[in-house]
Amino acid sequence: PNLADQIAAGEVVERPASVVKELVENAIDAHATTIDIVVEEAGLKSIQVMDNGDGIPADEVKLAFKRHATSKISAREDLFKVQTLGFRGEALPSIASIADVQLTTATADQPGTAIHLKGGTVLEFGVSASRPGTTITVTELFYNTPARLKYLGSLATELAAVSDIVNRLALGHPEIAFSLTNNGHQLLQTAGNGNLQQVIGAIYGVQSARQMLAITGEDHDFKVTGFVSLPKLTRAARKYISLLINGRYIKNFQLTKALIKGYGSKLMIGRYPIAVLNIELNPLLVDVNVHPTKQEVRISKEEQLTHLIETTIANRLTTENL
Ligand code: ADP
Ligand code: MG
Repeated sequence: PNLADQIAAGEVVERPASVVKELVENAIDAHATTIDIVVEEAGLKSIQVMDNGDGIPADEVKLAFKRHATSKISAREDLFKVQTLGFRGEALPSIASIADVQLTTATADQPGTAIHLKGGTVLEFGVSASRPGTTITVTELFYNTPARLKYLGSLATELAAVSDIVNRLALGHPEIAFSLTNNGHQLLQTAGNGNLQQVIGAIYGVQSARQMLAITGEDHDFKVTGFVSLPKLTRAARKYISLLINGRYIKNFQLTKALIKGYGSKLMIGRYPIAVLNIELNPLLVDVNVHPTKQEVRISKEEQLTHLIETTIANRLTTENL
């Protein structure tokens, strides 16, 4: 395989969950309304992501596996106002450099294409019958990077990571019907009807979803919407807090802290709400090109945003039946 691709894979593909994340984000970028994720052995045996999105035109399929070949941005300026989840053109070549990848894809108006790669080398390429959309199957992940394989967690740990990322992507996109299956067991199914509270119910249970407060707050630059659980429904870990910026799941310590602070002293130490917070802002105010996984972002006016989050949540909690 291409050395640069394998180096990039070291950053982009840490574990099966990273593959799932990249493939599902591609499906979201392709305007899919249904995304089905099927893994075997937490993805170590196989990962399949099937979408009904735009598909890849036949003449772009090989290009999609070339490094930095992205169809999503073309001008330098675009990098500062990225609207899609992907933009670096690294995921497919990285994954293909350390696994066996089969992809079938079709656009609405052209015959389909199938491609099979292993270790970055194209083994087969040709016309294939398929319905519009893309199906990608990844097997033998890390077959040529034994050291990486060795550092993976137990199957349960890897499955939890897969499930966690799919949950967060589903929370960020209630308008998309997601399903996740491991070894034939369905772990998630969402309706795709745009109802965030229903997605929360599918993930955390219907009872929990009933104990959520709708949140909305706005200032000149930011709009914050979502749900936080009533104080009687809390968890012992922060991982039940999901933050999304313009539909992208992110990790951000300061924003999480603001949410917890707004939730406030009414909580016992060490307890955290279940929360989903969607932050909408002008893409120019956020830099997502910080790390290859794109989960870390830099926000201008971050203090203003933390203030908005904190006050929005604090105000909502005091006016509600506590
Ligand atoms: P990026 O998402 O950063 O552009 P990727 O390596 O993830 O880079 O994907 C490369 C290209 O392959 C994308 O720009 C897109 O054109 C195409 N592609 C990948 N997955 C899909 C998909 N599920 N549906 C449609 N096009 C896809
Ligand atoms: Mg991508």
